[in-house]
Amino acid sequence: MEIQHTTLLIIGGGPGGYVAAIRAAQLGIATTLVEGDTLGGTCLNIGCIPSKALIHAAEAYHQAHHFMGDSTLGIQVQSASIDVTKTVLWKDGIVARLTGGVGALLKKHGVKVIKGWAQIVDGKTVDVTPNVPDAQPLRIQGEHLLLATGSVELGLPGMPFGGRVISSTQALSPTSVPKKLVVVGGGYIGLELGTVYRKLGADVTVVEAQDRLLPLYDEELVKPVATSLRKLGLQVQLGCKVQGMNAAGDAVRVIDSAGRESELAADQVLVAIGRVPRTHGWGLEQLMLTMQGRALKVDDQCRTSMRNVWAIGDLTGEPMLAHRAMAQGEMVAEIISGKRRHFAPAAIAAVCFTDPEVVVAGLSPAEAAKAGLDCITANFPFAANGRAMTLEATDGFVRVVARRDNHRIVGWQAVGAGVSELSTAFSHSLEMGACLEDVAGTIHAHPTLGEAVQEAALRALGHALHI
Ligand code: FAD
Repeated sequence: MEIQHTTLLIIGGGPGGYVAAIRAAQLGIATTLVEGDTLGGTCLNIGCIPSKALIHAAEAYHQAHHFMGDSTLGIQVQSASIDVTKTVLWKDGIVARLTGGVGALLKKHGVKVIKGWAQIVDGKTVDVTPNVPDAQPLRIQGEHLLLATGSVELGLPGMPFGGRVISSTQALSPTSVPKKLVVVGGGYIGLELGTVYRKLGADVTVVEAQDRLLPLYDEELVKPVATSLRKLGLQVQLGCKVQGMNAAGDAVRVIDSAGRESELAADQVLVAIGRVPRTHGWGLEQLMLTMQGRALKVDDQCRTSMRNVWAIGDLTGEPMLAHRAMAQGEMVAEIISGKRRHFAPAAIAAVCFTDPEVVVAGLSPAEAAKAGLDCITANFPFAANGRAMTLEATDGFVRVVARRDNHRIVGWQAVGAGVSELSTAFSHSLEMGACLEDVAGTIHAHPTLGEAVQEAALRALGHALHI
């Protein structure tokens, strides 16, 4: 078997692995990256990017439909239709452009990319079964081994994927729109995709075991999302557990918290109950690394319990977000090159691309109180923001959380149309240790949704101007 040698050997070409590879190569480190499927990982192929593409297309179609009715804007269209196959082709085109771009960047930086599935032999050695025709198995040895194998979707016991039961991956490439879709799981993936299918015309019911949607976000933030889902005609069943399919295989059996059983007819069932680190099937057990629950345990430099074996991204557990994986990858490359780095972000913003969108960065009021901080909190509603009115998007608000003693901002939250873009301002202010006065004293361009950020800070200081 051919044996290759390198300095940094990376398993997995998702946002964690490919960013680590590019940065390492920039720093002059000989780098080999092994990817069994497609460069770009979950994020570019079956996650962040395709889901946002479909969210955009479904919203455009929904708007067109809206203009068939009584339009306040004075726009009237006679009819609207959608060719889902064409929509999926458009989405696939974006994915291909981005994954091709990653390949080109890796090549440009001199990263050696091996297409195949890696199997760990020991802490420095990996065997690869190439998935390119006629290529021979090979062994690669690296001084450093970086594990970036990501995560896989969780299935429901007794309801394996297949037939009518689909995962987010299949939901992102529909060949047609089902008449009735049941979504199991009211987290961000379930709600994003549930909204897409509702806007495309399906009857959608979301079943969530807990007593509210988006259980990881506070109630005030989730309220505008729940209201909008109701307006869209999406059914929500809270506090209900899915038992499995009925005997005929055409309905989902559900039990509520009082023990009452019912059936929900379903042409398709999207199971979106979460993701787990990909720890099986590639020889990880050979290394006997320390685990933390189902994830690989790492320290604040992404070192595992074995010397020169590193891990990043979803494999290391929550928060499973692409930007966290990328930041960790970049850091590991820099540490290996001799720089002093630690993973200690002031905040990792999280966004739900629901309708309206939700964004959180840093501490919520409840989390700040739990951490023993005495905080001031202030909201600024989009109903008082001119730009929001021009966008017909006055639902929602921006909220700031700051320490009462020195006004240092410890958290931001927002819900509203397009608020994902405010995550940049939120992260900047938290990372730079801004105080309420810094944000209140910064001139924000008018008319923008961002003015609500400044007004929230002003309101926390007791002198909001526009409310
Ligand atoms: P991955 O992206 O999972 O990449 C791991 C790669 O390793 C894969 O390409 C895999 O093929 C490869 N691999 C695994 N094992 C081997 C092996 N043995 N040999 C060779 N290759 C191997 N995050 C956000 O931040 N924002 C969002 O809006 C967002 N939306 C999402 C929507 C959906 C529907 C889903 C499913 C996820 C979403 N995520 C989002 C999560 C995001 O995709 C992940 O957090 C991110 O992709 C993790 O990056 P990673 O590099 O750790 O792993």
